[in-house]
Amino acid sequence: MTDQSLLHDAWDRDHLWHPYTSTINPLPTYKVASAHGTKIKLADGTELIDGMSSWWCMIHGYNNPRINEAAHRQIDTMSHVMFGGLTHEPAITLGKMLLEVAPPSMHNIFYADSGSVAVEVAMKMAIQAAVSRSGSHNKTNFVTIRSGYHGDTWNAMSVCDPVTGMHGAFGSALPVRYFIPHPSSRFGGKWNAADIEPLEATLRDHADDIAAFILEPVVQGAGGMYFYHPQFLTEARKLCDKYGIYLIFDEIATGFWRTGKFFAWEWAGVEPDIMCIGKGLTGGYLTMSAVLTTKEVADTISRGEAGVMMHGPTFMANPLACAIAIESLKMLRETDMNARVAHIQDIIARELAPAATNTKVREVRVLGTIGVIETKEPVDVGAFQRLCVAAGIWVRPFGHNVYIMPPYVISDEDLTILCRRLLEIMQTI
Ligand code: PMP
Repeated sequence: MTDQSLLHDAWDRDHLWHPYTSTINPLPTYKVASAHGTKIKLADGTELIDGMSSWWCMIHGYNNPRINEAAHRQIDTMSHVMFGGLTHEPAITLGKMLLEVAPPSMHNIFYADSGSVAVEVAMKMAIQAAVSRSGSHNKTNFVTIRSGYHGDTWNAMSVCDPVTGMHGAFGSALPVRYFIPHPSSRFGGKWNAADIEPLEATLRDHADDIAAFILEPVVQGAGGMYFYHPQFLTEARKLCDKYGIYLIFDEIATGFWRTGKFFAWEWAGVEPDIMCIGKGLTGGYLTMSAVLTTKEVADTISRGEAGVMMHGPTFMANPLACAIAIESLKMLRETDMNARVAHIQDIIARELAPAATNTKVREVRVLGTIGVIETKEPVDVGAFQRLCVAAGIWVRPFGHNVYIMPPYVISDEDLTILCRRLLEIMQTI
């Protein structure tokens, strides 16, 4: 049993902000001593089986020997150097490797600092290209689907779901976007052609002031853990072409095999004009993201008024992050990821299925290495996490979603224990 006094640090509670926390009534935070593979070791020695991959990113497990080695090699050579006017082998090698796995039309890469910044960059790219291509300074707005999540910076927030996102807190300070319903057609279900009509209607009326359509392909993550029909992407691509609108795929959560494909666009086979990647890019080791785009978009920006892409972060293409990302990509390349993800999916689907009979559960859904138990009432996160820690698993629900997305290196035994203990907890809440 955990010794709570060792786990909750009073100074931390008083001085450190954790994600989305109150300083008056913060949720408990558990002190971690170390993490190896798929185990997180707390300060009192308790080991937790990780069901979260530290929010989608820790795909090869914690303290991975190969990534550690790559990091040590790079840090002894050069941990950082500015990217303005300089370049380096890790950025070049990583770029080549990314283009090998990206949609074929991707040609130019912009390295950025985090997922949210990638979304900001992608939106700026779309505006610069749309204005340059059309010659109209009005083409600066965006259309998106409800229940999306794209990050916490200003423009990223503006395209998050207006109800579950942060529109309430920031009100009129946020730019006003066009929102259409998310597709009702489920992944694996029947396609309902009416799902695309709201996009057509919006573009018919407002294409003149819209730069791009931005969405998470197939899996909506933090906005509701919802899986929709890939045909929506195919139809959206057609409409974006018809109305001269760029298409942005936010693959920050869906990328690097999480949904069962290297990137989720592959489910539909239609390519975006701009694509954001992050999270799993560095195997969860360091914050880094990238925005990939076509030569057409890149050159259209360069022919525009500014003549350049207007962004340049201090830590752009950080060599240490690049070296780590290279090693992570090599490991993905050396593994039969199709088989690996299918195997994890089978176990999650089998083990979580009984939750569907729980009267508090609305639905159980599984795609790739993502397992979601949607509850009828919102879950009390603090209470739920206390039960998880006592049971030796690490799962952090939000709203109506109790979900797991373990590192790909999880053993069958640990994955089974994770799912079974989660179901036991679901019986008690
Ligand atoms: N887009 C999506 C789809 C995400 O899931 C996230 C992070 N949950 C972000 C953007 C923002 O990424 P970051 O937290 O690295 O800024």
